Amino acid sequence: MSATLLDGDSLAKRLINQLAPRIAAVTGERGAAPLLSIISIGDDGASALYMRKKLDACREAGIETSVQVLPASATESEVHKLIAELAQESGVDAIIVDAPLPKQLSLPRILEKVPVAKDVEAVSPRSFGRLFEAKSLAQLEAVDALLPPTPHAVLQLLAASQTTDRQAPIDAASTAKLLAKCDGMDAVVVGRSSIVGRPVAHLLSCVNATVTLCHSRTRDLRTHLKRADIVVSAVGKTKFIKGADLKPGCIALDAGIGYEGGKVVGDIELDSAKDVASAISPVPGGVGPVTVAMLLANIVATAERRMRSGDA
Ligand code: NAP
Repeated sequence: MSATLLDGDSLAKRLINQLAPRIAAVTGERGAAPLLSIISIGDDGASALYMRKKLDACREAGIETSVQVLPASATESEVHKLIAELAQESGVDAIIVDAPLPKQLSLPRILEKVPVAKDVEAVSPRSFGRLFEAKSLAQLEAVDALLPPTPHAVLQLLAASQTTDRQAPIDAASTAKLLAKCDGMDAVVVGRSSIVGRPVAHLLSCVNATVTLCHSRTRDLRTHLKRADIVVSAVGKTKFIKGADLKPGCIALDAGIGYEGGKVVGDIELDSAKDVASAISPVPGGVGPVTVAMLLANIVATAERRMRSGDA
């Protein structure tokens, strides 16, 4: 078997193109483009690289950005004050606090201050609560929950794995229809962080997969992997999962990012996995670019909602 490679670059391009008329409508109606404000604290190489990708993608799509830089020595009250100012600022549609943070700062306490209406990474405790309260995609839609970008990207790629039509519509209803095919499938998610593993596991349960969430203390991970129809890896260990670990015909989705010989590689060894899986998302070019597209979609959604409610 040779797996279908789920092309995240072209999926992301299509998703971002779909946003163009919505961005133009917001910009035209209120005379100001959607605006993302990023709070960057200290100087972290890895996060600076990821931030540049977000900024470039926003600029290309017609979304304004501003970066508020605080020194690595910033105190928590200084960060809280800045978030409060941006929360009040009517021109700001979206706020991101760029992690990781310097050691003296508590990320959960800081994220608590980001208002749900501007929390485009859906990482504040209240956004998290809204996400986990729902048990289906319909319930998530009913409460207007923004989905966290990386888990949402995993879901989009899972939907793409359910069709051979690469031009199939990618609106919410069509995606939900494709995801309905995953009803009852066995899914294994490896990694339980609050930004990737746990929300991915929850979203998979929302499409009626039966989910096992694995982590570093899981006994006999390989047995779990071998029976999974869907495998999502979010560990960050290069080539951690091999083809021999997978069930023939499974869908393998790789959120991991690692480096080998100066190249970006994922958690799942592509060379061996593609002979076993039916569909696989490569790294690079899989979850990463779709994550950026889902972030942009959240920024546009917050700008539209704020405009409709008269806040912007
Ligand atoms: P994290 O917070 O470090 O979590 C890693 C998870 O992997 C933990 O739950 C850990 O278990 C688990 N793990 C570690 N060793 C394991 C093992 N031997 N067996 C099973 N599980 C094991 O990382 P993260 O923030 O979730 O990120 C995970 C990966 O996704 C990283 O490579 C990151 O760069 C990437 N990422 C990609 C995107 C994107 O847009 N593509 C976005 C965010 C993150 P414990 O909980 O027991 O420690």
